[in-house]
Amino acid sequence: MNVSTLDILRCPYCGGRLELVTSLFNRCEGDQIHTGVLGCHCCTFVVVEGIPVMHLLEASTKAREHVEAGRPDLARHALLGLNDRAQAQRFDRVAAADAATYREAVDALGPQLEGGYFLYRFSDPTYVVAQAVVRAVAASVLTSGGRAIDICGGSGHLTRSLLDLSSPPPVLADLYFSKVWLARRFTAPGCEGVCCDGNAPMPFSRGAFRFAMCTDAFMYIWTKRQLIGEMARLIDEEGDGVQGAILIGHTHNQRTWCPSHGQPLPQEGYRDLFETMAPRIFAEGGLFADVVTGGPLNLARHDSAETIDADPALTIIATRQPEVFRPHALEGPRQPTGEYRLNPLYVAEPSGTGITLRLRFPSEDYAEEYGACRQYLPETVMVDSDALAAMAAGQLTPALMNLARRRVILDLPKRYY
Ligand SMILES: [Zn+2]
Repeated sequence: MNVSTLDILRCPYCGGRLELVTSLFNRCEGDQIHTGVLGCHCCTFVVVEGIPVMHLLEASTKAREHVEAGRPDLARHALLGLNDRAQAQRFDRVAAADAATYREAVDALGPQLEGGYFLYRFSDPTYVVAQAVVRAVAASVLTSGGRAIDICGGSGHLTRSLLDLSSPPPVLADLYFSKVWLARRFTAPGCEGVCCDGNAPMPFSRGAFRFAMCTDAFMYIWTKRQLIGEMARLIDEEGDGVQGAILIGHTHNQRTWCPSHGQPLPQEGYRDLFETMAPRIFAEGGLFADVVTGGPLNLARHDSAETIDADPALTIIATRQPEVFRPHALEGPRQPTGEYRLNPLYVAEPSGTGITLRLRFPSEDYAEEYGACRQYLPETVMVDSDALAAMAAGQLTPALMNLARRRVILDLPKRYY
């Protein structure tokens, strides 16, 4: 973590500032704190691999004891849940290799991470809508600078789309150390990672951010009112008329069941969470249709109560910045932030001088939950050898831009799979 992050970090329990306890074991380099113990008025928190762990769950207490004993390697194992010695050694070998991939690291962390799901994340329908909404809203409120935070951001797939919009770099907050670690190493390199509990007060100062989002996780939060109050506090900047935005993306709907339901609210329940701003609620189906038909993404729409009630997933935006609630042109393919690769949902067969790609879902469960991706992913597609050569050389030719628009090739993080 950058030492300047201490300016916005606060204890979730006493609200106090955090300072590095220099009398205890620590490892710092330039403006980065790699390992150490942070203290406030009431307790201490550990920093491992540059990630401050701002909760007091059992693993974090164990990790703090390991750091105090000068064993950051054991602290990392404790936070990653690697209690088995052989598994921990296997993970250390993967982590030490420069050429290791996201997929290898996920596999080495064990089955609790649902590796398959994350591998296909960059083309699933939930991501495709969320990414367009995040880009539109964040770009509208971060035009004159300002920082973004992705709460319950998992391993950083959407944090990645904030990297060029947020200044200073975006913060990824998640309960799970393993996910934040993966994000900083692979998915969203350059983001600042913080482990914290979405059911506790957020460990940041008032007004530290201009854009606060939580996508595909809000229905699993029990203390929903507290989290919305906290998000409003985080974007409550002094002076400039509060131009920030709160985005709750892909939260489920109490009135329409879906396979991973969680504890969702009905639309009036979601509205009641906001005390200081009137949120706009969108049925995700309309936003999805905007995206798969090529845009614009129409955030000027007012969905009827019936439309919202009938949709299994909702998007909620609260802001006083009028620029947000208008139609937004979709961004076309651009120079990759990582590298263009074949979408892992396709199986390739040699064909003539190129390849034929066939869409193949990894499981029945995937097909059931994400089958809507058939609306934009072609069943089969030919890619000629010129296009493959251009992709390998990192060029963005018209043929590749066409494949990227159809999501047959994806701008993936380097060393993803
Ligand atoms: Zn405290």
